Amino acid sequence: MSLVELLTKLISFKSITPNDDGCLEFITKVLLNMGFKCKKLNFGNTPNKTKNIYAHFSRGSGTHFCFAGHVDVVPPGDNWKSDPFKATKKNGYIFGRGACDMKSAIAAFVNAVNNFLKKTKDFKGTISFILTSDEEGDAEFGTKKVIEWLKKEKIKIDFCLVGEPTSRKKIGDMAKIGRRGSINCNLTVKGKQGHVAYPEKAKNPITDLIKLCSELKKPFDRGNKFFPPTNLEITSIDTENKVTNLIPEKVTAKFNIRFNNLYNSKTLIKTLKERLDNLESHYELSTKISGESFLNQSVILNNHLEKSIFEITKENVEFSTSGGTSDARFISKICPVVEFGSVGETMHQIDEKVKIKDLDLLSEIYIDLLTRVYS
Ligand SMILES: [Zn+2]
Repeated sequence: MSLVELLTKLISFKSITPNDDGCLEFITKVLLNMGFKCKKLNFGNTPNKTKNIYAHFSRGSGTHFCFAGHVDVVPPGDNWKSDPFKATKKNGYIFGRGACDMKSAIAAFVNAVNNFLKKTKDFKGTISFILTSDEEGDAEFGTKKVIEWLKKEKIKIDFCLVGEPTSRKKIGDMAKIGRRGSINCNLTVKGKQGHVAYPEKAKNPITDLIKLCSELKKPFDRGNKFFPPTNLEITSIDTENKVTNLIPEKVTAKFNIRFNNLYNSKTLIKTLKERLDNLESHYELSTKISGESFLNQSVILNNHLEKSIFEITKENVEFSTSGGTSDARFISKICPVVEFGSVGETMHQIDEKVKIKDLDLLSEIYIDLLTRVYS
């Protein structure tokens, strides 16, 4: 099966998160044909448990390189120019849901491993796949649980590459080595409602909130070599006040903090409370952590990837920690991880697409990377 045929087949599964729609079963068949051993790992408490697979090809002892990815996609939405689950070729692109995020990387890596194993007769080591159908959703019963299972089974991985669409404009211009953490907060201040003409009889909570917000907005750190400074953005300040002559009873500010690896959620919340307690006002703070920051990189892996990308595309890759969360946050707990895949410009969008040329380049980069890792 050619690379384009493989991607076409992957796109044909309506694998809207967390349903895989048979996509993992199909990949299992392909990998079994390539000599892989596949383990189904179904987790969760619903009758249709979340499906994952761990597949590995081992010969002798040596480096264990793992590719991780998700077959689930976000819902297609309306107004596509073509059927989102029927790969459509046009102007050198393939259109379809998952074309860039991230069925293209899965197809490219399967293709790359197949070609690599054919040409590398003396291969020694392990190549594995962690594939999940729960990344775009809650991600509770996907890679997170597979990692727990790997730990329990004492399976050691040396390097992992996650095939997220990290390239920005051109294939190979960016890879990711970590991510910032994210936390959402609600800060409520209560006062005493009253008439605006008689402020002495009321207590305006907004006055206090403004002071608290400016305390919170003070810089957290200066960032470091790998991360930008931790940043707090206020996203809403609301009293739900509909009239002009009323001092409101309470006010709530919402804010999000993207934090680097100089903080974790605990130390960050502690800092927030210290700042708020500096001022004598009564407040309520609630926090919801969406992800911790992480950085677990291997200089060896990064160097190999940098060389492979340059060899195939002549691009100088930038290693970044920008963007939202991905399953790399779970994998980073057990081994160094880098994220690298196709151009992500259209991910989650209507008419999501991948350049066919990029698909080939991606596969070539992965083959070159495997060659360097196992040489
Ligand atoms: Zn993705």
